[in-house]
Amino acid sequence: MQLISSQMVGYMERSSWIRKMFEEGIKMKKEFGEDAVHDFSLGNPDLPPPPTVKEALADLAEQAGEPFFLGYMPNFGYPHVREKLAEEVTKEQGVDVPADCLVITCGAAGALNSVFRAVLEPDDEVLVPTPFFVEYGFYAENHAAKLVTVPSKPLTFELDLEAMDAAITDRTRVVLINSPNNPTGAVYTREELDGLAAILRKHNEGRDKPIYILSDEPYRFLAFDGVEVPSLLDVYEYSIVCSSFSKNLSLAGGRVGYALVNPAIEGREALMGAIVMANRILGFVNAPALAQKLLAKALGSSVDISIYDSRRKAMAEVLDNAGFKYTMPKGAFYFFPEAPGGDDVKFCATLQEEKILAVPGTGFGYPGYFRLAFCVSEDVITRSRDAFVRAMEKAKA
Ligand code: PLP
Repeated sequence: MQLISSQMVGYMERSSWIRKMFEEGIKMKKEFGEDAVHDFSLGNPDLPPPPTVKEALADLAEQAGEPFFLGYMPNFGYPHVREKLAEEVTKEQGVDVPADCLVITCGAAGALNSVFRAVLEPDDEVLVPTPFFVEYGFYAENHAAKLVTVPSKPLTFELDLEAMDAAITDRTRVVLINSPNNPTGAVYTREELDGLAAILRKHNEGRDKPIYILSDEPYRFLAFDGVEVPSLLDVYEYSIVCSSFSKNLSLAGGRVGYALVNPAIEGREALMGAIVMANRILGFVNAPALAQKLLAKALGSSVDISIYDSRRKAMAEVLDNAGFKYTMPKGAFYFFPEAPGGDDVKFCATLQEEKILAVPGTGFGYPGYFRLAFCVSEDVITRSRDAFVRAMEKAKA
């Protein structure tokens, strides 16, 4: 008896590399002890939420006896939270964003799925530069669409605009980008984004449906050395931003984020209505009430990003010492170095022998590299120093 759909059988066999390494890590920590394992497998923010979150929870406890405290609400979220969010997003994006351009969602993941549901027809194509956050493929297939991948430039992971241009077909409906990027730490420059916008405008001519840029931005707050994370909103009219508070407030399990439709889209009310409807009928109904109320009070605060910066420098020192080749991440909390010898799966197995857990680039559609998530204590990073040297020596032998 086949209990599950054939598609799910396939998905589960392929399983995610990240989960696989995460589970390996649990096993190894049991066997060798927590301190002996250097686990860089998972992008799960380890910093505590800022104090505003705890204060907000205490305040909210006082209101918990009121009727409808956690009751149903409009599918786009609580109106007062949307108003506050609009103010915050206006500051972040540097573009005036009215509240009615926002849908509060179950994280960026919920936002991406709601937007896809709102715009994609079966067999439409979602173009994504690689390496990419592996869930994108599943999300596209949730809506019977196809993910089409285009490799970014080696080592720097800049967009390969010529290759993206060549990959666009009549079925391309969405170009999905993520900056600051998971897994590379790249931040796309204004020139790259202008270049992409020019290509899409050219393809939009004569079409009755625009190609959207969907900009996935949960790491917007985490850019280092003062680097600019340009807003898509004034670069390309058919742009939609998805983001969340999973990383900047360490609220990943709170499941709260948003979709932001560019106010410049003519007739955007229909698109907004469709995203709100999608949020409802995908079964999210609305983003969690408690997390929204927390958000209203904690917006504008953030985890201490200087801690991530300090870890980034410590990780760079460890990798330099062992002789790895990589581009220093400009944002997010990942390194994506070259795998010595070229075989990333093999090299991650070598790392594992040295009790280092990393995810092969293959898992992100970009073999030859591996990902290290540095949302771990600095102690784990500095302790891994000799293990990286030994793994490099083995790879060279
Ligand atoms: N997009 C990227 C690039 C991510 O790395 C993640 C989570 O790690 C998500 C989306 C989903 O985040 P959320 O918790 O907001 O759904």
